[in-house]
Amino acid sequence: MRKPKLRELKEALRAAFSPRYTTHYPAGGHTPPDGFRGKPAYDSDHCIGCGACAEVCPAVAIRVSDRLDGDKPTRTIQQRWDKCIFCGQCELHCTTGDGITLTKEYDLATLDRSSCAQSIEHELVVCEVCGAAVGTKKHLQWLARRLGAKAYANATLILSGDGWRQLAPAPAPRMDEPPLARNDLMRVQCAACRRTTVIRELWGE
Ligand code: SF4
Ligand code: SF4
Repeated sequence: MRKPKLRELKEALRAAFSPRYTTHYPAGGHTPPDGFRGKPAYDSDHCIGCGACAEVCPAVAIRVSDRLDGDKPTRTIQQRWDKCIFCGQCELHCTTGDGITLTKEYDLATLDRSSCAQSIEHELVVCEVCGAAVGTKKHLQWLARRLGAKAYANATLILSGDGWRQLAPAPAPRMDEPPLARNDLMRVQCAACRRTTVIRELWGE
């Protein structure tokens, strides 16, 4: 009976003379340790707008929306930290590795949930035949750079890059809905239209 009491007394004395474990927050500042998972932040230099972070987010805190009407088709990626569970999956699976990072920002309490969102916008490349989104311009350029010479096998990749466009000038606009033909191979096309074009080229109607 006496032994446990002595052990408790020893623990109490050790705790009394040890440095404290708690911080002065919110009265004072707090420095989170390395590896702390705070508010995610996009890096516009490294995000290519692929949307992989939205696919892996278990809390559905990232939303990808494409606007195809208007002069400039745009993809908006919105992250909401009021829904975020700070798991770090978006950072872990980011295609470029540096597009989104969990910062050390932790003081996120607010009464206004509408202020808990951040967005990043990207120019979209659309299919010249059906108008569907092919991907963001930055994503296609990133793919072309990664593939090197192999990117020449895909006309969409050649035509989507600014530098590449000099090698293959954009073809004239399509006439009103003619059937897909050989000259359409050198156009920006989505996967479905390119497949149709290739099959018609090989097998006919
Ligand atoms: S590059 Fe990374 S941060 Fe940007 S959309 Fe893709 S996965 Fe998300
Ligand atoms: S940290 Fe987790 S929950 Fe938060 S946005 Fe990234 S993947 Fe989603």
